[in-house]
Amino acid sequence: MNIPDLDDTVRLDCDVLVIGGGTAGTMAALTAAEAGANVLLLEKAHVRHSGALAMGMDGVNNAVIPGKAEPEDYVAEITRANDGIVNQRTIYQTATRGFAMVQRLERYGVKFEKDAYGEYAVRRVHRSGSYVLPMPEGKDVKKALYRVLRQRTMRERIRIENRLMPVRVLTDNGRAVGAAALNTRTGEFVAVGAKAVILATGPCGRLGLPASGYLYGTYENPTNAGDGYAMAYHAGAELSGIECFQINPLIKDYNGPACAYVANPFGGYQVNALGERFVDSDYWSGQMMAEVKQEIESARGPIYLKVSHLPGETLDALEGILHTTERPTRGTFHANRGHDYRTHDIEMHISEIGLCSGHSASGVWVDEHARTTVPGLYAAGDLACVPHNYMIGAFVYGDLAGAHAAGTLDALPAPAALPEDQLAAAHELIYRPLRHPDGPPQQQVEYKLRRFVNDYVAPPKTATKLSLAIETFDRMLEDLAGMGARTPHELMRCAEVSFIRDCAEMAARSSLTRTESRWGLYHERADLPERDDVEWRYHLNLRKSADGAMEFLKRPVAPYFVPVPGLDELPSADTTAIPVAQPDLIGTPPNLGAQVRSDQISGTVTKDLVAPRIAVLLGLDAPGVGELADFLADPDPRVRATALSVLTENTPDGFADPLIAALADEDAEVRAAAVDGLRELAEILPATTGLAGHADSPDPVVRAAVVDLLRALRTGSGELFAKAAVDADHRVRIQAVNALVSLDDWGALTAAAHDDNREVRIAAARGLATIGLGGADTLRALTGDRDPLVRAAALTALGRLGDSADAATLCAALSDSAWQIREGAARGLAALGPDEAAAPLSAALTDIHPDIRKAAVLTLSTWPESEAARHALETAVTDSDADVRAYARRALAMHAG
Ligand SMILES: Cc1cc2nc3c(=O)[nH]c(=O)nc-3n(C[C@H](O)[C@H](O)[C@H](O)COP(=O)(O)OP(=O)(O)OC[C@H]3O[C@@H](n4cnc5c(N)ncnc54)[C@H](O)[C@@H]3O)c2cc1C
Repeated sequence: MNIPDLDDTVRLDCDVLVIGGGTAGTMAALTAAEAGANVLLLEKAHVRHSGALAMGMDGVNNAVIPGKAEPEDYVAEITRANDGIVNQRTIYQTATRGFAMVQRLERYGVKFEKDAYGEYAVRRVHRSGSYVLPMPEGKDVKKALYRVLRQRTMRERIRIENRLMPVRVLTDNGRAVGAAALNTRTGEFVAVGAKAVILATGPCGRLGLPASGYLYGTYENPTNAGDGYAMAYHAGAELSGIECFQINPLIKDYNGPACAYVANPFGGYQVNALGERFVDSDYWSGQMMAEVKQEIESARGPIYLKVSHLPGETLDALEGILHTTERPTRGTFHANRGHDYRTHDIEMHISEIGLCSGHSASGVWVDEHARTTVPGLYAAGDLACVPHNYMIGAFVYGDLAGAHAAGTLDALPAPAALPEDQLAAAHELIYRPLRHPDGPPQQQVEYKLRRFVNDYVAPPKTATKLSLAIETFDRMLEDLAGMGARTPHELMRCAEVSFIRDCAEMAARSSLTRTESRWGLYHERADLPERDDVEWRYHLNLRKSADGAMEFLKRPVAPYFVPVPGLDELPSADTTAIPVAQPDLIGTPPNLGAQVRSDQISGTVTKDLVAPRIAVLLGLDAPGVGELADFLADPDPRVRATALSVLTENTPDGFADPLIAALADEDAEVRAAAVDGLRELAEILPATTGLAGHADSPDPVVRAAVVDLLRALRTGSGELFAKAAVDADHRVRIQAVNALVSLDDWGALTAAAHDDNREVRIAAARGLATIGLGGADTLRALTGDRDPLVRAAALTALGRLGDSADAATLCAALSDSAWQIREGAARGLAALGPDEAAAPLSAALTDIHPDIRKAAVLTLSTWPESEAARHALETAVTDSDADVRAYARRALAMHAG
């Protein structure tokens, strides 16, 4: 391609420009549009599939649901996880607005796990706080968002331009007025004028090189190359905590998370090669990552996610989540190695380093309205420095940014002429590789750059290595200038390398400037291993100064409004920023490398005959039910199934009827597609549907789905559920048990307790405990069940329904040869109270299996007033298992308080 003339620049204008159509960006666009703004949403991939949510999400990591957790506790937890260096006001926004966001997403059709009564089924994953809310159909979350973006009212206000990648934010007199962008398909140069600009480009996921060596095999979505970090920096905004890296545990040799937090509520946990739990930290933090790395490198390494001890049905359920959401290739990866969760635990490792506030704390400095330090410029999502904000925080900050930006429009003139010098510099940055197409390709330069990141910037850090890093990244400006490209796509990749280089330099210089160790592995300085609270109880912010150099300032931590014992001395009443000099580089003349020179970079084949029909179908823009009718009646089941997925995605008026009708399709795949669609849309299905008419379908998958949906919609009758409870297929009977729980029908559950299938009996035992009415005698009968897992579930359930009459059964079960039964008994002893149970539980604290000791500690923790319980807990604080120690420690601290 040829370099386009600057005079041929395509001009676009809007009120609010949103850059990045992922989690935060889509929400920012929706909120700004709802407030009346004219929105332009630019995405370098395609909004339908882009960003961290592209392959789905298996749960909300940080939901503060009223009645389940308190915002203040969450704020305190995040303050502790970040060694106190936080602006609590920003975190409080996520804590207090997250629940409304969950409800808003529900209105969009996103589903969150609920118990039989329709209450949010929040799970405890970390030792403190219950914040994890599973998303049973999480694979569809981006689809649901896209559906809303494409609704007519939103389409009138939001213009989406896919494959358009801004490279610089434009400023006029210090205010953001638009952006300069590349069309990554046509190669056109595009200038956008806007009254406000929202950056939502996600983390810098392509900073370190993964152990696999694959450039795009990153933990993070690899299109997120740090674009927004670089754009914010060059626009003059402050960035904060860039030295506090993101490092996550993941599956060895696979680029996905191990999902210990998904497996944990099912009974999975991390162990070393000796089978011992080793993580002492209470919450996801750099300290936790330091423990993980230390264990991997010790004689006790490597480490595993232990799941092989779990029953087959539990593993089926786990696979149902882990092999379909977030990283759908995971099942194939294990299968290719001949590994199965029933026989192999999952070897884990740690990820490459990245910049990401969502999991850690490094980002563009924002206040509690998502405003950066540049007027008119906002940042939201993983890019904005709100620690541990994850998905729900990205939504909340997208919403905050969209609302605030829209609220400023009346007072602002629309920008007319855009700054020509900035446009020319951006043009040069984008198109320079076309001048020497045979120069080194992007892959080579990027590989070299990121290998240096691993060598010199990844922890443990030292001043010498960081100095070498800075020199290297400075020198590599020339390599970047020499890169060659021939196509718009290659130009995009070359521009991304410049973002990565900028981020690498920021990471190295910040790490050199914070002369202490903090946040565990995230900022581990091997040459300065101690924390220095006197000098460094500050945020370390950086920005581009007027002369183009990178400058640093310490920002005092604002006074807390949620006290955190042990850290309350850290904030300062005086919030004046303090300039701080980057230390001289080691081995070079003073400040040789201190100038930021990045400105000097000026510069299908169709598989079969049905495919054409499917292509036509997929090409329809927001089709109505009428337009889809032919496809829904197509003789080929693949076309019918695709039509159902298009219907699900677009939800035109009357969408429910064809979906429900398809439950009677002659083809099992089509029926399965209908089931998928209905489950995905459960939250927005019209209340009166013909679902019940399919309760007698010959297909058990359909029957089970009908029962489940009727329960969720609260429209099923007791009669229908009772019939399902005696269905020939156990999957239908399990759904019936859940439905009967929602009706408090414990009498019917008594019958289910005699079912032939053990999963149904386990569901009945749990259901009886949930209802809490009668049922104790049935549970007592189940404690003698032929299957040990049913006995274990019944013993656990006695904890809520039993009484002192069960003492003998529970105590005897503590000596059973099956560990699951001993664990159930340790939990069930809660029924007795401390006077009777403290002694047997104390004995259980010497059990060889750590899960029994953990269960005993958790039960003892429920009796804070009991002397006997406290004595028992004191013996557990030196246990060899990290969970047992930590829960005992926490319980004793709470008793003391
Ligand atoms: C593997 C993984 C698992 C996770 N699991 C969970 C979980 O279970 N629960 C949870 O709560 N959180 C989880 N998270 C975190 C959560 O997904 C993120 O915090 C959140 O989605 C970040 O949203 P975002 O908008 O900042 O980024 P994204 O959603 O990634 O969006 C960024 C978008 O910007 C686009 N973009 C980038 N640069 C440009 C540019 N120059 N021009 C135009 N567009 C651009 C990208 O293509 C992308 O679409 C997980 C994250 C990952 C990576």
